[in-house]
Amino acid sequence: MSDSFSSRVAPGSASPGALQVALPSPLRRLFDYLPAHRVPSGGWQVGLRVRVPFGRRDVVGVVVGLLARSELPREKLKPVAEVLDDAPLPEDWLWLCRFTARYYQHGLGDTLQIAMPARLRQGHPLAGRTYLQWQAVTERDATELRNAPRQAALHALLRQHAHGLPAQAISAHGYTRAQLEALARKGFALATEVARQAGHTPSGLLASPALPLNREQATALSALHENLDGYHPCLLEGVTGSGKTEIYLQLIEAIAAKGKQSLVLVPEIGLTPQTLSRFKSRFKVPVVALHSGLNDAERMDAWEAAADGRALIVIGTRSAIFTPLARPGAIIVDEEHDGSYKQHDGLRYHARDLAVARAHHHAIPLLMGSATPSLESLSRALSGDYRHLRLTQRPSRHPPAKLELADLRHQRRQGGLLPSAIKAITATLEAGKQALVFINRRGFAPRLACHACGWMADCDQCDARMTLHRQPPLLACHHCDSRRALPDACPECGSGDLRALGSGTERSEETLQGLFPDTPIHRIDRDSTRRKDSFDAILKEVHRGEPCILVGTQMLAKGHHLPHVTLVVVVNADGGLYSADFRALEHSAQLLEQVAGRAGRAAHPGRVLVQTLHPDDPHLGKLAEHGYGALARDLLEERRLAKLPPFGYMALLRLESAKEQAALALAQAAAQALRHWLAHSGTQARCLGPVPAPMERRQNRYHVHLLLAADKRSQRHAAANYLVQWLDANREASRVRWSIDIDPQTL
Ligand code: ADP
Ligand code: ZN
Ligand code: ZN
Repeated sequence: MSDSFSSRVAPGSASPGALQVALPSPLRRLFDYLPAHRVPSGGWQVGLRVRVPFGRRDVVGVVVGLLARSELPREKLKPVAEVLDDAPLPEDWLWLCRFTARYYQHGLGDTLQIAMPARLRQGHPLAGRTYLQWQAVTERDATELRNAPRQAALHALLRQHAHGLPAQAISAHGYTRAQLEALARKGFALATEVARQAGHTPSGLLASPALPLNREQATALSALHENLDGYHPCLLEGVTGSGKTEIYLQLIEAIAAKGKQSLVLVPEIGLTPQTLSRFKSRFKVPVVALHSGLNDAERMDAWEAAADGRALIVIGTRSAIFTPLARPGAIIVDEEHDGSYKQHDGLRYHARDLAVARAHHHAIPLLMGSATPSLESLSRALSGDYRHLRLTQRPSRHPPAKLELADLRHQRRQGGLLPSAIKAITATLEAGKQALVFINRRGFAPRLACHACGWMADCDQCDARMTLHRQPPLLACHHCDSRRALPDACPECGSGDLRALGSGTERSEETLQGLFPDTPIHRIDRDSTRRKDSFDAILKEVHRGEPCILVGTQMLAKGHHLPHVTLVVVVNADGGLYSADFRALEHSAQLLEQVAGRAGRAAHPGRVLVQTLHPDDPHLGKLAEHGYGALARDLLEERRLAKLPPFGYMALLRLESAKEQAALALAQAAAQALRHWLAHSGTQARCLGPVPAPMERRQNRYHVHLLLAADKRSQRHAAANYLVQWLDANREASRVRWSIDIDPQTL
């Protein structure tokens, strides 16, 4: 692949001999076509969408290269069926797609498809960056129109609007396109081409005033103000509730005052009506939100508004990183450590990492904020590659609550709760406050077990236990989504003594309801909030402030202001402490700190009780005593010694097949070829494995991992590139499903 996005053939000059087109195909290659007879009005350019014959279908592709001639003989090439655009898709967007495809070793065609709105994928036209603005020709004598009363009326309407009216507004007044064209033909109306722009003046930017900043915030903001031009990556490390969002808002204000756009990324769970209304109520200029509730047409509109610069503020989740910007001014990544920025299938990109690349490309500031920064960003901040800004105080003046560890060993529990936790909940409710009971679902879902023989319900398609659900009663596998009815008796020994083991949200809810029969209990997890409005309804109820108990999972941990919660109980903190995955501890600690941050955010101090089987664990102790920041620095030291990310770079090859041996055999062959190539090319990378995946069998398919590690990004890239090319060229590989994960987040 060559870097040919800038090459173009000027209008009027000879057409290229062939077009290189990226197609919606998983293949990591491009396809050559002959230019169609109709030369697009701007000439052939990289970035035009075309409809081309592909196999037995017509598909929409993007021209990514103009060739003097194809390497294939001319008679083998088919002509483009249709040119869909007059102007190419935005250049910054094309650049980002090309960068993404290269970095993540993914096909450019598929990358472009994923990164464009569905409407463009389907071949719908772009509205374009310009529109026609109609004006009356006032010198003409309007009495000449007396035989055409509608045209006369339209002429009068245009006379009232000295600056002119866009065609859309004219049709909104009830006039037809034919009437307008007739008027123009007779010389009574003229059109000028106008670029779409934001119709704002910097003086009218704010709808509500910015908050006066506290000292720390002011220091952080002035550091940002000094660096509004050029690439300035910056990590804003600030405890929950310390006012990071206020800093984002004021940075956006400064960028918008320059007429430039800000792109704000938020975690999946973070794009709540609460967040949006905070942005929307601050600014007069429109805030364009890219969320899952948009239909295809709305998404397309938002994309174009960003692409032509009308939208000064664009806010969205992971995929919003692929929003084109006409006048990029800053990129903000809220909760930059959040796992939802990583795409976990297909094109496995990390939106935060792409934000870094993009800000660098545009030469604009990048602000990443978190209470619990990823070790990647933290290490760059500590080394000085990123500017490190910190907020340690909360405007509410209550310091974040310390974690109190509660020993789960040898103690009686009710529904997973220690007597001390139940006492604390009672006291909280009696004081008129709310309590949050947090269940770390990973690894602690309830199982169905036989108390006579020890049998447990397993999934028949995965190496995993089934999870017991109560409402409705059934067994479900969270890895393949298969479901089964509860058995009446143990399939092994026939005993009827089947009981739940472990603690899940439903079970805790039952227990708590028994203990506090008069208190409302709100369960918040994926099952209880599957309907979109039910989550909002629960939050609304909770915000009323009546004493209640919230029982929930990860969904509760982030982003939500729960001003009346003064107690957080973590039912079991041990999920990530002893995992084989080197990132598990980091992610666990982030989650615990985020959950703890829910306590005492407003006027009331909070308390956080953390139940654990390992109260002496040094990592957990560090977290409880000194907070995430201190633990993170320890973990960084451990990673440095082990040469693990961020001090090394990884790629993970995942292979799966229905036959147990097929994936393993291919992985072994790939490893052998790679090791041979590494030795001969002198590339400094290590090939580890293959090994069976942590859960080898899932949905009756066998999973194998091959890991690649290197001290330098470039060496990892070279090795991953070799591996992918070897697999692309290997015939056995087509029988095994495989994918490459660059910078994998879970092993
Ligand atoms: P974070 O994003 O770090 O969690 P927020 O920006 O949401 O913190 O701020 C937490 C709360 O404090 C919000 O209710 C916010 O309105 C308020 N706040 C932030 N900065 C200030 C300030 N300078 N003065 C008064 N209140 C503030
Ligand atoms: Zn049994
Ligand atoms: Zn399963």
